[in-house]
Amino acid sequence: MISDKNFVDAAEGKTYFILNYGCQMNESDAEHYAGQLEEMGYAKADDFHNADIIVVNTCCVRESAEKRILGKIGELKRVKENHPGQVICVAGCMAQKDGEKLIKKHPQIDLLIGTAHVNSFKKILTDFLADKGGRIYDDMIIADSEFEGNRVRQSGFSAWIPIMYGCNNFCTYCIVPYVRGRERSRSIENIVEEVEQAVANGYKEFTLLGQNVNSYGKDFGEKGMFAKLLRRVNDVPGVERIRYMTSHPRDMGEDVIQAVAECEHICENFHVPFQAGSSRILKMMNRGYTREQYLELVKMIRRYVPDAAVTTDIIVGFPGETEEDFEETLSLVKEVGFDAAYTFIYSKRSGTPAAKMEGQVPLDVKKARLNRLMAVQNENSLKRNEEMVGKTYEVLAEGPSANNPNVWSGRTRTNKLVLWPTEGRTFTAGQKVNVKICNAQTWLVKGQAE
Ligand code: SAM
Ligand code: SF4
Repeated sequence: MISDKNFVDAAEGKTYFILNYGCQMNESDAEHYAGQLEEMGYAKADDFHNADIIVVNTCCVRESAEKRILGKIGELKRVKENHPGQVICVAGCMAQKDGEKLIKKHPQIDLLIGTAHVNSFKKILTDFLADKGGRIYDDMIIADSEFEGNRVRQSGFSAWIPIMYGCNNFCTYCIVPYVRGRERSRSIENIVEEVEQAVANGYKEFTLLGQNVNSYGKDFGEKGMFAKLLRRVNDVPGVERIRYMTSHPRDMGEDVIQAVAECEHICENFHVPFQAGSSRILKMMNRGYTREQYLELVKMIRRYVPDAAVTTDIIVGFPGETEEDFEETLSLVKEVGFDAAYTFIYSKRSGTPAAKMEGQVPLDVKKARLNRLMAVQNENSLKRNEEMVGKTYEVLAEGPSANNPNVWSGRTRTNKLVLWPTEGRTFTAGQKVNVKICNAQTWLVKGQAE
């Protein structure tokens, strides 16, 4: 048996690279893979070509993501031919979904790590390198949801904090519950301990992650746990900003909105995906709310937090979506006046109920609807950003802009991207800066630091 100490020696001078795809939960998992690899003695490579270990952390929520990832896995075959001994691990949702099929089709893959095995990656890799253990870990074990160990975070001031794993909702279009399993929450103590440690390491902003954060703690048999967790994290000394995603409109309670209104550090940004504006389609999606209930929820948010930014996810072209249904989506988008929206073309996911539904919408119709939807939402975004002009906002600085080191960028509490010229001043990432907005565009605003 190789001990950790021997392993660190064996890994000396060796490197890893993580190719990450997909949602924030995947980004967080990637930080945990990196943490485990560094505990084993690997250092981050500058580029994946020469790395000794490559982890491809995959996503299968839409077909387009899968195609891109399969292309990359194909490319790795040639990369590995030039680097005998290179270890290729495929992790995440595609590994979970396709298991053995994937490794048979792409024999360059050494290890397949399903979504329930993130915590045991170090042991799996150690066994593999000692010629022990298997190559496929895709069983949906009831994994321990408490977190131990390290994450190598991408940002130096903003931290992802997973609070729960899996999803129980089974929206009829969505593959996530099949590849991420049932909801498992971390204990409040375990979450708070991680937040406290991150604060001690200089982190200021915390994004609590889950597929449906509003059902946090239901698996403990208790209600109202998410609002309790928000208040508890708000009280951790040193925490400056708290964000969370994703909220489910059916489960978003008044207690959570009250917590946002009352707690100093919780940001006034409500990301509440509505998916479709027609109650008929929402029913077929198994979303558990109607158009009217969603609009009531937005009213309640604005009653408690008048300056809140409200953002959403929308799918166009769900099976059976008629022109009238789609117009209900457009009218809801106009009525709410979202600050931003992530818009998606429905993607057929085999194994989900919607994939077998009649009335699949042709791609050209879906594309045309997406364009119309984006045009309406772009108007909303610009209008909301224009309302910021002349006002001063607290911005958490992120860093210099990629194409001009004399321009810095950061985000408001409402998650708006702000750019400002440095004018000879020095800023640091994670610093709070007051910026007076003088120019609004669809995707960002510009201003002057005060
Ligand atoms: N759990 C979150 C929720 O319910 O809002 C988000 C999970 S999912 C990774 C992110 C978004 O992808 C969803 O809100 C939905 O709009 C979109 N999505 C999921 N399945 C899809 C599919 N089959 N086709 C197109 N978009 C999809
Ligand atoms: Fe998918 Fe619905 Fe769960 Fe979100 S809530 S992950 S859309 S099943």
